[in-house]
Amino acid sequence: MEYVSTRGDTRPLPFDDVLLDGMAADGGLFVPRAWPQFGTDDIAALGDLPYDEAAVRVMAPFVGDAIPAEKFRALVSQSYAEFGHHCVAPLRQIGPGEWLLELFHGPTLAFKDIALQLLGRLFDHLLAVRGRRATIVGATSGDTGSAAIAACGGRENMDVFILHPRGRVSDVQRRQMTTVEDDNVHNIAVEGTFDDCQALVKAAFADEDFRRTHHLSAVNSINWARVMAQTVYYFTAAASLGAPNARVSFAVPTGNFGDVYAGYAANRMGLPIGRLIVATNVNDILTRFFASGAYRPGSVSKTLSPSMDIQVASNFERLLFELVGRDGAAVAAFMAELREKGVFTVPSEALSTVADLFTAHRLDDAGTVAEIKRVNDSTGVLIDPHTAIGVNAGRREAGCPMVALATAHPAKFPEAVEQAAGCPPPLPDQLKSIFDRRERYEVLPNSREALQEFIRQRARA
Ligand SMILES: *Cc1c(COP(=O)(O)O)cnc(C)c1O
Repeated sequence: MEYVSTRGDTRPLPFDDVLLDGMAADGGLFVPRAWPQFGTDDIAALGDLPYDEAAVRVMAPFVGDAIPAEKFRALVSQSYAEFGHHCVAPLRQIGPGEWLLELFHGPTLAFKDIALQLLGRLFDHLLAVRGRRATIVGATSGDTGSAAIAACGGRENMDVFILHPRGRVSDVQRRQMTTVEDDNVHNIAVEGTFDDCQALVKAAFADEDFRRTHHLSAVNSINWARVMAQTVYYFTAAASLGAPNARVSFAVPTGNFGDVYAGYAANRMGLPIGRLIVATNVNDILTRFFASGAYRPGSVSKTLSPSMDIQVASNFERLLFELVGRDGAAVAAFMAELREKGVFTVPSEALSTVADLFTAHRLDDAGTVAEIKRVNDSTGVLIDPHTAIGVNAGRREAGCPMVALATAHPAKFPEAVEQAAGCPPPLPDQLKSIFDRRERYEVLPNSREALQEFIRQRARA
């Protein structure tokens, strides 16, 4: 399998280059040159397989011969071996024809583990093959840093530096990151805000010399391998509910558009899908886009669903590429327009090609709390605020069986859950133990020089 850029300006690259580069040289995102196709028998067979077996089958065409088949199989199995549920991504019924797809059984109790556990291993393997090391640097507002740390911790060829704003993340969030024992994990508490942390990371990457010397890299949500790993559970869930003979819809709590785009990819690979329902909080650029065709970032508001507090949905460019008939120059022109005017508008003919597949709904914090309460009252199941937004959006669409993606364990967002349900969610074992363990982190001033000196002394690359 070869990959091309959404901006059309690069030569096709194999999977290993795409994984390690992350972003295309022309500023675009990598997409497969053609969609691999799964026939009805291939899809039906997935319903009876263990998750890791199904995952190997769904992902193998994307990897091609970049990794030997046996090695790839082993990396996939290791990625999911320690999930808290042996089905990895089990379905749970919450109503007639209404299901939760629980994606939060990984080490940090959020759906990002499903892709990042594999990405960390793929990175490490491909670095070893090339005799290289990489330095992963990232910033977190609290809820996603732990998944990156869990993915990179203990890997032979990677060091990971994660910045968080000192005193501005919850105790649980901080401890999930700082109690990891691996020597290659470096937590940095910055005297500043999350925006300061992000600006520091950007500045470190912008320093060309520094970036090259220490082989700086990111495991962010635009990496193709993350999308690839997320296509798997659309197949396994649909196959469990009768695909390819039955058509299933998915409601997806959405921020960067990576997760719901993986559903689109599964559809292009042959999986029958009724609707893909894009569920957003009040940061609703995507809801507005699907209603009007205009993509116009606004300012970001803080909500009870912080992992979706985003105004520029980076993976959206991949869908845009398909909407304009895979014309990279047209995508590049839209992106230039966005930079210059703060908005671009996709013609209605282009939007109409996906009008039957995508719908979008938004929900504010009051609605989110009410939805957590409703689900708890009617089923006894506690859901987290992100999941609640998806469940609510799914209920607004009728038709085929509805699978709402449950993207975080309720215990990760105890305040919102307690506000809605009247009691805090019980702490799972993974979270209990972090209160007994030693924390390791370094406090640094809000200074690029201090950050670079810190990395220089510790990075092995
Ligand atoms: C990251 C995240 C999302 C949004 O996923 P995208 O792929 O960015 O759209 C939703 N819920 C939770 C809990 C997340 O961590």
